[in-house]
Amino acid sequence: MDKQDLMQQSQNHICQTYNRYNLAIASGKGCYLWDQEGRQYLDFVAGIAVCNLGHCPMEIARVMYEQAQQLVHVSNLYYTEPQVRLAAALTGSCFADKVFFCNSGAEANEAAIKLARKYSRKGYGPGRYGIITMKNSFHGRTLATLSATGQQKIQEGFEPLVDGFRYVEFDSVDAVAKAIDETVCAVLVEPIQGEGGVRVPERNYLEGLRELCTRHDLLLIYDEIQVGMGRTGKLFSHQHEGVTPDIMTLAKALANGMPIGAMLTTDKVAEAFGPGSHASTFGGTPLVTAVAFEVFRQISAESFLEKVRTVGEYFRERLLALKDKYSFIREVRGRGLILGIELDFPGGELVAQCQERGVLLNCTAEKVLRFLPPLIVTSIEVDRLVETLESVFRDKH
Ligand SMILES: *Cc1c(COP(=O)(O)O)cnc(C)c1O
Repeated sequence: MDKQDLMQQSQNHICQTYNRYNLAIASGKGCYLWDQEGRQYLDFVAGIAVCNLGHCPMEIARVMYEQAQQLVHVSNLYYTEPQVRLAAALTGSCFADKVFFCNSGAEANEAAIKLARKYSRKGYGPGRYGIITMKNSFHGRTLATLSATGQQKIQEGFEPLVDGFRYVEFDSVDAVAKAIDETVCAVLVEPIQGEGGVRVPERNYLEGLRELCTRHDLLLIYDEIQVGMGRTGKLFSHQHEGVTPDIMTLAKALANGMPIGAMLTTDKVAEAFGPGSHASTFGGTPLVTAVAFEVFRQISAESFLEKVRTVGEYFRERLLALKDKYSFIREVRGRGLILGIELDFPGGELVAQCQERGVLLNCTAEKVLRFLPPLIVTSIEVDRLVETLESVFRDKH
């Protein structure tokens, strides 16, 4: 199919819920993608923080192929070894004791919301089901998770929303404290806001939330769907602070592009989820969990995470140098390899210009150029990205 045909048929047959770029991608390897005509692109989107090991890594393809020949799916009526191995690896690497597997970020948050309600119901009876979330947060597109999302544009037209969510200013412990009353059971927060514009909170924010939640017996839920799995240079973003939640959600990079979600929690909280209380047909199939285990094995290696921190620091310094040169850059933000440049104008046009020059990046919160390269990126690709940005910035001047 040629590109015109592809675009036309896409319009004819696919729900028009996405604004797509004028680009049809045919293949990928490492940090690079190729379009249908064989043109190469340097990818600093990585499927929105999904392909953390790059595109089509050989070892992942091998695991996928071998597992696909052995066992793909049997239902959670039965035990399977890949699922248990992944659960043991994940819980062994953080605060959690138990995992619930599902298929996406929204579903992981959905599970967290259901668990928080059920847990509170058991301890306090009905009426204590409120969840405090943050303005400009993003938690997904199902009805419950868009209700949790603190952005009106995502909720518009879908009312009535799921009851019980209230939104407060991000990065303010005080704002959360003020919103707590006898109807609240949990606080849901991204350790770094991704879609909200790569917003890194102050050092003591998560710690402040932890203290508040402990004091009021609220569950603290971290949405690490975008910033977990090595993205920030630690396996999980909150491990920079050393303050643990009661529940954490993962998805995106967990299987490097195969659909998976996970909700992790402590034994104490998990007790509220008994047999029959939650389920997912595809949740944690042998195929996806075998792949995720290999992803986990590679990303959790300290040498891998160390490289993410080193390249991330180099990248950040190069972006800060750009900021000194171009007055329209308001701020450089981020940690590890989730970085953003806030501009004083909408960034959509710059994204298109970079694409014309063979570099893919993404713009979020209208004015923030967001960089989410595969975590295997090196200073060579970072240099190329920065040079491309400069050439576009120069034209802007
Ligand atoms: C992407 C994302 C989600 C939603 O994940 P889906 O797999 O698209 O449902 C939720 N929370 C955060 C922080 C995300 O970045």
